Amino acid sequence: MIFLAHSNLRRFFQGIRLRRAMLRMFVLVMLALLMQDPAASAATNLLDRVSPEAWRIHRGSILIDGHNDFPYEMRVKAGLSFDTYDMSRPLTNLNTDIPRLRQGGMGAQFWAIYVSATTMRTGGAARQTMEQIDLVHRMVARYPDTFEMALTENDIERIHKKGKIASLMGIEGGHSIENSLALLRLYYTLGVRYMTLTHSDSLEWADAATDKPRANGLSDFGKQVVREMNRLGMLVDISHVSAQTMHAALDVSRAPIIASHSCAYAVAAHPRNVPDDVLVRLKQNGGVVMVNFYSGFVVPESAKVMASMFDVQRDLREKFPKDEDFEKAMADWRKANPMPSGTVKDVVDHIDHIVKIAGIDHVGLGSDFDGVSQLPTDLPDVSSYPIVTQELLDRHYSEKDIKKVLGGNLLRAFAAAEKIAGELKAPTK
Ligand SMILES: [Zn+2]
Repeated sequence: MIFLAHSNLRRFFQGIRLRRAMLRMFVLVMLALLMQDPAASAATNLLDRVSPEAWRIHRGSILIDGHNDFPYEMRVKAGLSFDTYDMSRPLTNLNTDIPRLRQGGMGAQFWAIYVSATTMRTGGAARQTMEQIDLVHRMVARYPDTFEMALTENDIERIHKKGKIASLMGIEGGHSIENSLALLRLYYTLGVRYMTLTHSDSLEWADAATDKPRANGLSDFGKQVVREMNRLGMLVDISHVSAQTMHAALDVSRAPIIASHSCAYAVAAHPRNVPDDVLVRLKQNGGVVMVNFYSGFVVPESAKVMASMFDVQRDLREKFPKDEDFEKAMADWRKANPMPSGTVKDVVDHIDHIVKIAGIDHVGLGSDFDGVSQLPTDLPDVSSYPIVTQELLDRHYSEKDIKKVLGGNLLRAFAAAEKIAGELKAPTK
C-alpha cells in the first residue's frame, strides 16, 4: 500500500478530498438542523405579525412582567446550576432564556421565589426560599451584561436606560416566612419586593382561593404581616388568595396592592381570578392586576375545566387511596377533559374587562411563564410580549395607555408603596 502507482495515488487523494467535502457538507447540514430551534422559530414566525408601529410603541415602553417561575424550573430541571442550564443559550424545554427575553423586549422581570406549600408540613420552607433567592443573585452576577438587581422603582428606570433587564424578586406564598416577621424583614433586606400572601394552600393567617379557609380572610397575625410589608415597602400580592382575603388585605393595606399574576373572574370563572368588587376597590387603593397568560385562568371554558378539577381531585383521592391509582385516574380525567389553549385575544379580553371595571391605571402583565403547563397558541414564551402590544393597538388603545399596561402602572404603584414606607418609617416624636 505504500508504493502506489502515480494514477492510483491521484485517485487516492481525490477520494480523500471527496470524503472531506462530503464530511464538511454533513457537518454543515447537522449544524443547520441543530440551530433550527423549533421553539425559537415558532415564536419568530408569530412575531412577523407585529407591525412597525407596534414595535415602536413596544420598544418605547418599559415592559414589566409580574411573575416568571424560571427560578423554580432551575431547581426542578437543572439542580439550581447555570452550568447545567446556561440561559445565554436557547433553553428549548423552558419558556425563558436570555435570547428570547431580549427578543420580547423585557424591561423588568419579577422573578418568582416559589417553594412548594407542602414545606408547611414537611419543613424546609425558609431554606428553600433562601436557595431560590441565592439563585436569582447568582443569575444576575453570572450575566452582568443582561441583568442588574433592582430594589426601587428608580432602579428599574435607571437599569432600563442602560439597556439591561432590571431583576426583582417576589416571594410566592406566605409559608416562606414560617410565621416569623423577622424572616419577612430579612427577605426584604435580601432584595425581595413583593410577597404573595398564600400559594395553593391556606395558612393559619391567610386563606387560599383553592383551599378551605383557616383565617377568616386574615388573622390578627396576617394583618400584622400586611402592615409590616407596608412599613418595609414590600408590595402585598393578592394572587392565589381567596376573595375574602383580597378584601381583608385591601382593608388593612395603606399602600397599593398588586395581583402579580391573576385574571378577571367575570371573564373566566376560576376561584383564583379577581372578582369585580375587588377590582372596584383597587381603583381607590391604586393597585394593579397583572394579567396571567395560563390557559386555565384565561379561557372561560378552560377555567371551568380547571375549577371543577379541584373537586374531581378530592373525589378521586377518596376513591383511590393508593398514589399510583389516584395518579392514573387523574391522568385519565385530564385526557377526557382537554382544555382549549386560547389566544392573545383571550388574554386581552381580561385586560379590557379590568379597564372597564377598575380603569386603565390598574392593569398590567404577569405571564406566569415557566410556571404553567398550557399557554395561548400565539404566546408560547418570553419572546411573545410584542404580540400583546399588537393586540392592544388593534383594539385602539392609545400609545399612552399601552405604556401604562406594559409597565407604567406597576412603576406608579411601586413608587407609591415606597413613599408610604418612607412615611411609616419616619421616627415618631
Ligand atoms: Zn402562581
